[in-house]
Amino acid sequence: MKIGVLALQGAFREHLETLAAIGVEGVRVREPADLDGVSGLILPGGESTTMRQLIERWGLGQPILDLAESGAPIFGTCAGMIVLAREIAGGEEPILPLLDVTVERNAFGRQLDSFEADLPVDVLGGTPVHAVFIRAPIIERMGPGVDVLATLDDGRIVAVRQRNILATAFHPELAGETRFHRLMATMAAEQDDPGEGSGRRPHPTRRTQPR
Ligand code: GLN
Repeated sequence: MKIGVLALQGAFREHLETLAAIGVEGVRVREPADLDGVSGLILPGGESTTMRQLIERWGLGQPILDLAESGAPIFGTCAGMIVLAREIAGGEEPILPLLDVTVERNAFGRQLDSFEADLPVDVLGGTPVHAVFIRAPIIERMGPGVDVLATLDDGRIVAVRQRNILATAFHPELAGETRFHRLMATMAAEQDDPGEGSGRRPHPTRRTQPR
């Protein structure tokens, strides 16, 4: 299995290293052909305005939307979450509107550009996630199909999942956290080879019998 990492700008190397650490092959994605054969895609942190321009310049928008449509997991961290948001507060056009949320960019203001926090994330088990926030966005609104994975102590939402779309306002890859990448690899494996009970494989008794 190969997982793509959008490598136009930003913190993509750390995602490739995290994938390597869990034994998953990571591929740099810079143009549409790089998406061939990938089972999922990571959109890293960085600068979402620059990413918007580079996604357009390299014609990556529609191919990424198609990959998401096929059910492959897409994981956005920080600027990557902004790229995935259906709505960006302040009226900027959405980039790849795959996640039914409204995000506010740089939501922690100048006073608190960067900070770290230990956050409980139930789907990842008992040990809290050490989360690194860098000029991070926050989720202001979310639609009914979106599940909250993590909040700050004050209740603000910083990690979500909507079916095959995962997003965190923080950078798990900068703190040696591998569990989000493992979750993504599990989702990708399930997508590549759906197991019993997923409803995607025809039931044996319903298979056409050879004559
Ligand atoms: N502030 C950046 C933006 O709005 C995101 C920062 C990050 O990805 N660490 O695009």
